[in-house]
Formats: sequence, C-alpha cells, structure tokens
Amino acid sequence: MYYGFDVGGTKIEFGAFNEKLERVATERVPTPGDDYQKLIDTLAGLVKKYDEEFGVEGKVGIGLPGMEDAETGAVLTVNIAAAKGKLLRKDLEAVIGREVKIENDANCFALSEAWDEELQGEESVAGLILGTGFGGGLVFNGKIFSGSNHVAGEVGHMRLPIDAWFHLGDSGKAPLFDCGCDKKGCLDNYLSGRGFEQLYEHYYGEKKKAIDIIKAQAEGEPKAVEHVERFMELLAICFATIFTSLDPHVVVLGGGLSNYDLIYEELPKRIPKYLLSVAKCPKIMKAKHGDSGGVRGAAFLNIK
Ligand SMILES: [Zn+2]
Repeated sequence: MYYGFDVGGTKIEFGAFNEKLERVATERVPTPGDDYQKLIDTLAGLVKKYDEEFGVEGKVGIGLPGMEDAETGAVLTVNIAAAKGKLLRKDLEAVIGREVKIENDANCFALSEAWDEELQGEESVAGLILGTGFGGGLVFNGKIFSGSNHVAGEVGHMRLPIDAWFHLGDSGKAPLFDCGCDKKGCLDNYLSGRGFEQLYEHYYGEKKKAIDIIKAQAEGEPKAVEHVERFMELLAICFATIFTSLDPHVVVLGGGLSNYDLIYEELPKRIPKYLLSVAKCPKIMKAKHGDSGGVRGAAFLNIK
C-alpha cells in the first residue's frame, strides 16, 4: 500500500493506493497553522488509521510546496508555517517507525503523470505547471530527478531567453517583472496564469482576468487576439529553450492555464523554429490527473 500526503498551506490531502496504483482511500484535513507538533500528530494519525484499516504498514510519501535542504534536511517552504525549517522527514519517521520520502509538489505532479498507464513506458517525462506560478518537474525512467540541491526542474526561475526579450519588445517596451526569489525576469512571472494577466496589463494598461481575456480572444476582440498571439509565441520560445536542454520524450502540462486548448494547437507549430534543427518538438499533452496529481505523486515516491 502506498500512502501519499499533499501538504498545502491550508489543507492536507491524504490518499492511499494499492499495488495496482488504484486509489482506495481519500481524506482531507486542514493544515494546522504554525503548530509543528500538531502537524506531526495529524500525519502520523492518518498513517495509523489507515494501517489499521488495511492491515498493512503503508509506505509514506509527502509532497509540499518547497523542498528539503540538501545538507540538513530542514524543510524550505514559505507556504506551510508549521513545517518551515523543521526536520519533518526525520521527526515523522521517528513517530511512525518507517522511512518517509519528501518531494517538491511540482515533482510529484510530474511523477503522477509519468505513472499514468499511457506514459509508463516513456523514458523521460517533463511536467510543466502553468498555474498561479510556473514550475516543473522531471521524471526519468519512472523516478524523479531532483538534482544535487533539489532544484532540478525549477524552470520557473530560469530567466527569459534573449529571443523572448526581443519578442516582448526589447528595452523600453518589454516588461522586466520582479520575482519572489529576488531576481528579475524569471519565467514564473511571464508564463503562469498570473504572468498572462500581468503581461496584458503591461501592454494595454488594464487589469483583466485570464478567463476573460481568453473569452475575448475567441470572440475576436483585437487586443485579446494580439495578446494571445504574443503569449503563444513567448511560450514557444521559452519551452523550446527548456526542451533544448532537457530533450524530454513527453511533456505534460498542468495548472489552470493548461486547460486552454489553443496551447496544444499552437505550440507544436511554433516551437520547432526555436529548437536545434536536428530536434523535434516532443509530444505535449494535458495532465490527466489534475488536482489529485500532488497526492498521487507523493504516494508513488515509494514505487521501486
Ligand atoms: Zn525567480
């Protein structure tokens, strides 16, 4: 039995999966504010409850918005007050008496999709999330590759490629957005749903929700049409830069903006001209497991 926890800022989702990777239990509980002991008790309590229910010791994986410090194991996160700076893995292991794995939630998303029936045979899968932010994870042969500092796949903090800068209008016209990581020009602020909206505001001086821009584009409203055209090309340039380095066999898109079907029509047409001539555009697919990706991926951290 595989147990997965998707620990977020406000809620914890638990899922149990059998050996066939079918979900056999689900539970959601609130994340305890900044009370670390209560967080440990909550996680351990769910493990104990489902161990009793299934009569086995499930293997435990946790996905969270952040990562472990590669040297100390301390949790680096801004979203979960209770876990910040804590040795969550070691402390939980001590209470439940078994190994615990912790991974970044974007990596869990990628792992969840890579273990979808259709993609299990693929050598490499890149999961890219076009959500409130832009992030990603890499799976090679069914395993997450997180690098020596656990930052592999953090594509949201790559800076804009030079082609993108010229595409956006060069100095004077192109916006240089600040990032939460203290740098400027990180892809997170351009390719995410938030980026989609702030680019619109930059060029047209008005705030508009992504969903309304998309609707206006479909109706042929000129500003929205121009904006979407600019955005699709920007996405193609940035993805091509990522693909030139990673050359993934399959790319799976998640997050709110990944539901914009035009992306899947436009990217394969636009990406090739930014790749090396010997490279082809990889297969780009919409995520199948959507909101349950975090919990599935966390559970699948223990698949051998
Ligand atoms: Zn950044």
